[in-house]
Amino acid sequence: MQISEKQLALVNDRIKALIKADSFYGERLKEAGIESVASAEDFNKLPFSEKNDLREAYPLGLMSVPEEEIVRIHSSSGTTGLPVIIPYTKKDVDDWATMFARCYEMAGLTNKDRVQITPGYGLWTAGIGFQAGVERLGAMCVPMGPGNTEKQLKMMEDMQTTVLCATSSYALLLAEEIAKRGIRDKLKLKKGVIGSERWGKKMRERISKELKIELYDIYGLTEIYGPGIGISCKYDNGMHYWDDYIYIEIIDPETLQPLPDGEWGEIVITTLVKEGAPLIRYRTHDLSRIIPGECPCGSKFPRLDIIAGRTDDMMKIKGVNVFPKQIEEILQEFPELSSEYQIRISHLEGKDTMRIYVETNGTVDFLDMARRVAERVKSRIGFTPLVKVVEIGLLPRSEKKTKRVIDERYQ
Ligand code: ZN
Repeated sequence: MQISEKQLALVNDRIKALIKADSFYGERLKEAGIESVASAEDFNKLPFSEKNDLREAYPLGLMSVPEEEIVRIHSSSGTTGLPVIIPYTKKDVDDWATMFARCYEMAGLTNKDRVQITPGYGLWTAGIGFQAGVERLGAMCVPMGPGNTEKQLKMMEDMQTTVLCATSSYALLLAEEIAKRGIRDKLKLKKGVIGSERWGKKMRERISKELKIELYDIYGLTEIYGPGIGISCKYDNGMHYWDDYIYIEIIDPETLQPLPDGEWGEIVITTLVKEGAPLIRYRTHDLSRIIPGECPCGSKFPRLDIIAGRTDDMMKIKGVNVFPKQIEEILQEFPELSSEYQIRISHLEGKDTMRIYVETNGTVDFLDMARRVAERVKSRIGFTPLVKVVEIGLLPRSEKKTKRVIDERYQ
């Protein structure tokens, strides 16, 4: 999607602010001799920014306004090395709430809804973002934070919660607990707003079937406000994103060239109005595509497809490039398997090996099941994995993010 005149004007404002603030990106622009952009071609020449740049700015090097204008910071979880600190101005916090409220409206929520929030609070952007959006919309917030399933279910029942906000793995855990206790009839749940994790079709179907709710996928990342920059609509064909706040382009992660709408590649985001820490051409390493054409819901906001993986999730096994998503799609073709799986990659006796753990119930022959899955992976992707079949419920479920790929080669 080519950048519009209006978006270019906003980018120019941000460029000015970044140069003035002498931030890492301002320096980079000065080195490249860029003071403004006049066209889409100019924009495509702007340097990219990366998580590593943000880490190097730790703690407050991203701040692009005088300190007295900063009202809050958030931090990304940072699984490797230094965390990233993102400073927010009052306007940034306000804009984020506006975008989040827009997400809830897209999902059909009104001020009569009661919204139970289970993502974490604190440095993490999730909980407080979900809450600010609820308050902006005028609905009733039930701010639980993560964990304590017993209490979650009690509040859900007593407060007559209508909307659940959760990660997909926690939504699944709650769905299983609700089924186990047979308390679904006592609940008033109608919708789920599910975020911050890639999730397969099967897991989605299971959550929506067990909980009997409509599901909406929310997108976002701490570096760019947090969750709430886009959400799926009731037609469930991609996530609308707010192109008056962010500009999204899809690039080829190898050549770094922008790709036309419809093609899969890496999501690169430019913030158009962010003050505390504006980002230009920020490489998210998330893989998706812009869906061409209009959505049947009539919204003019453009759409991103599902997040199909991470550019750095790409695994090289026996010389073959593999995405976890490819394995997941194969597993979904077997109705006997649950939505849970785990992939472990190790290096044994000079060879890379992939083990895939899957779950099924006691009615199928485990050995035969393993053989069929291995054969299908071999025929589709080109190598034979070791497949281990276990009983349903044995693979880990977590209250935060479920780690599905474990690379033991570099531990
Ligand atoms: Zn739509």
